[in-house]
Amino acid sequence: ATLPDVSTFDRMESRVRSYSRAMPRLFTKAQGVWMEDAQGGRYLDLLSGCSSLNYGHNHPVLKQALMDYIASDGVTHSLDLHTEAKEEFLAELESTILAPRGLSYRAMFTGPTGTNAVEAALKLARKVTGRQHVIAFTNGFHGMTLGALACTGNAGKRGGAGVPLTHVSHEPFDGYFGPDVDTAELLEQRLSDPSSGLDKPAAILVEPVQGEGGLNVASPAWLRRIADIAKRHGALLILDEIQAGCGRTGDFFAFEAAGIKPDIVTLAKSLSGMGLPFALTLFRPELDQWKPGEHNGTFRGNNHAFITAAAALRHFWRDGAFEREVKARGEFLGKCLREIAAPYGDRVRLKGRGMMQGIDVGSGEIADQITAAAFARGVIIETSGAHDEVVKVLAPLTITEQELATGMRILRECTQQA
Ligand code: PLP
Repeated sequence: ATLPDVSTFDRMESRVRSYSRAMPRLFTKAQGVWMEDAQGGRYLDLLSGCSSLNYGHNHPVLKQALMDYIASDGVTHSLDLHTEAKEEFLAELESTILAPRGLSYRAMFTGPTGTNAVEAALKLARKVTGRQHVIAFTNGFHGMTLGALACTGNAGKRGGAGVPLTHVSHEPFDGYFGPDVDTAELLEQRLSDPSSGLDKPAAILVEPVQGEGGLNVASPAWLRRIADIAKRHGALLILDEIQAGCGRTGDFFAFEAAGIKPDIVTLAKSLSGMGLPFALTLFRPELDQWKPGEHNGTFRGNNHAFITAAAALRHFWRDGAFEREVKARGEFLGKCLREIAAPYGDRVRLKGRGMMQGIDVGSGEIADQITAAAFARGVIIETSGAHDEVVKVLAPLTITEQELATGMRILRECTQQA
């Protein structure tokens, strides 16, 4: 208790660019859904590294797999060289995830983070189609490097680019104009009308649930329409599953609910299962037109991540039990959030799907008050949306119903006080 927790925090704040003012603690340990600070304070983590820790912190099975691998002097970093660890991951991905879903993809390790996977997807689509224009959607978020940022809809995030972000249009996402306007039909009309000024697209890039954009859900029917539109207009369909994938909505891929087979899929965040930087672009084998050296990144051979990712797929995804558990937990979360929202009528709305849900409280200021109050009571939770007006629950998928109920009780009380 004598540790200079807050002053250490202040010293760190003066040395690094960070956004952690709202949570002024020095965190030291993390296990499961709990984080601990230097003074022994415990925090229920309902943020999970923005969905990078779907199996919680330091899951014992994944941790053991990594420790065994390190103890055996397994290869750490290998660029493009084939390694046993890479083979283990690819075999597990194929047998546990892709084959049972009738999906056939080649994998490309693009570099460490999600935005690298999106860049690779965009470059591949432009190369294969010979077209430049990309259709993305309002409120979408795809990363911070220039290609992915051009596809990101949020003006504040685009503001940092410092150069024009071009060759992308942001079409209205599902529900953007309310439930009565069919935005897929609007896109179809624009693409079919030469006077619309919309160039023929190389790709349509879409998040199945918009994570940063405020938990807007693409309905299965809308996604099927978008897949059909992409096909008919000669564009490749890229599903950005970086936040919604790896089980966050209950299915391994969020697009499964729509029964579609995208041309290209991007994954990152929870793929390694332990929060290790690891991103993957999957594409239909016949699209593979890369020439050597055309796209790569130094950390494309992160063997520690291959090991933990393979262990995560093996442990959680082989038999369907985890999937059922996550779906049940998602329903429970929805029920809790509906109860929290109910007293406020239209002023508080439920958003999202599965274990990716939250409440739209109408303003970023109120949402900030709620998250600050929650933090003071030991709950880590963040906001999203165009104006950060959505309090977003991204708990580890391994959270128990009791732990989630505790978090939701605190969220309800903090909402009442805001
Ligand atoms: N795509 C989506 C849907 C995301 O949510 C994110 C990050 O939040 C990214 C891409 C970018 O990933 P990264 O921050 O790992 O570069």
